[in-house]
Amino acid sequence: MFDSLKERFENIFAGLRGKGKLSEEDINLALREVRRALLEADVNYKVVKDVVEAIRARATGQQVLESITPSQLIFTIVYEELIKIMGEAPAPLVISPKPPTVYMMVGLQGSGKTTTTVKIARRMSKGHKPLVVACDLRRPAAVDQLRVLAEKANIPFFGPEAGETDPVAVARRSRAYAESHLCDMILLDTAGRLQMDDELMRELESMKEATAPTEILLVVDSMTGQEAVNVAGTFHERLGLTGVVLTKLDGDARGGPSLAVRASTGVPIKLAGCGEKTEDLEVFDARRMAQRIIGMGDMEGLLEKVQSATSDADIERMTESLKKNRFTLEDMLMQLQQIKKLGPLEKVLEMLPIPGASKALKNADIDPKRMKQTEAIILSMTLKERRNPEIIKGSRRKRIAQGSGTSVQMVNQVLAQYEQMKGMMKTFGKMSGGKGGFKMPP
Ligand code: GDP
Repeated sequence: MFDSLKERFENIFAGLRGKGKLSEEDINLALREVRRALLEADVNYKVVKDVVEAIRARATGQQVLESITPSQLIFTIVYEELIKIMGEAPAPLVISPKPPTVYMMVGLQGSGKTTTTVKIARRMSKGHKPLVVACDLRRPAAVDQLRVLAEKANIPFFGPEAGETDPVAVARRSRAYAESHLCDMILLDTAGRLQMDDELMRELESMKEATAPTEILLVVDSMTGQEAVNVAGTFHERLGLTGVVLTKLDGDARGGPSLAVRASTGVPIKLAGCGEKTEDLEVFDARRMAQRIIGMGDMEGLLEKVQSATSDADIERMTESLKKNRFTLEDMLMQLQQIKKLGPLEKVLEMLPIPGASKALKNADIDPKRMKQTEAIILSMTLKERRNPEIIKGSRRKRIAQGSGTSVQMVNQVLAQYEQMKGMMKTFGKMSGGKGGFKMPP
């Protein structure tokens, strides 16, 4: 079961605390458990592969600290990688600058499309006047269901006339109705099927053409697991989705599909359905979802703890390196990563307590894209190479260039930059000398 991932981690890392770096073997064991846990949470295997590789790259060579356990460290790396995949910032629903704003709701039968249509209308009725439109004419019950839900929530409703069979015509006519009733939003509840078929897709394509929707939102049942990826893929290919709503998150689904849907289509998950009532709709929160997938609460607290412990340890280690006049490529990598965390570079440079440092570093290359490449280059080196840069000769440079997707010329530049910084650090080290040593700005 999932809850035991924590226990499994504790076993793997038993006895490893405050002792050097995470070994490759420990990491492999931990990643095996991560892989299993993600697959159990219904994350698509291709996505699992990518996540695991990203975690490996970040965990390799990490220092094991006194104040946090290795499993805590790995947990936070997993957590951050999951958030990255699902998209850190919330993706708000788009409002058309020229009314009416039209949302076309699509999805398989039973996914929660009709309920979600009313949920969204209800949410938008603060500030807008939405009209819900029944365009699922195959199931007479679907029209009634929407009408009843809309009435209960006090939302204007528009539906087909008796015997009407063309959903596109209903959608078209809803526009005039919206205008005459001063509705600035139209939500089209389209037909669903138990499975995707070409006829349904053609119907939806015609509706898209006729209504030029502002958003096409796919409603996905979070309990559908792996199938969600295929469904999202097909709908996206045919219609060009602008967002996904994940429903039934109040159940015990692990939420894996959210990762897979986002990773495979790139379409943002905008909202989450969390109950049968029409008020049960939330903005999708990648952080909460990542906690759910890992099966552990309060990852935020843990993350904070790990970040502050790591950054203290980094500074301590750097001070040590400087005192010993040993500045390696590992230190350079750490510096790059610190700088990324600190924010605007100019500010950081100004804070450096060493005369001339700001100017010297400003001359170094601090273009963010360049920094990323430099980081990729150092990450493509083995630990031995990072600690002993002098062994990086021709064939190693070529391998590193290939591994980092850069060129030998760029690897050469990074090594030259390293030499330059090493010279500079020597001077800083001498200047700070003594007891306190060099301190990075807070
Ligand atoms: P449609 O066929 O896609 O239009 O799906 P419906 O809107 O009819 O929903 C199918 C079933 O799922 C209904 O019983 C809804 O009450 C239920 N449902 C929809 N969204 C949620 C949700 O977020 N949580 C729960 N628990 N049930 C939901």
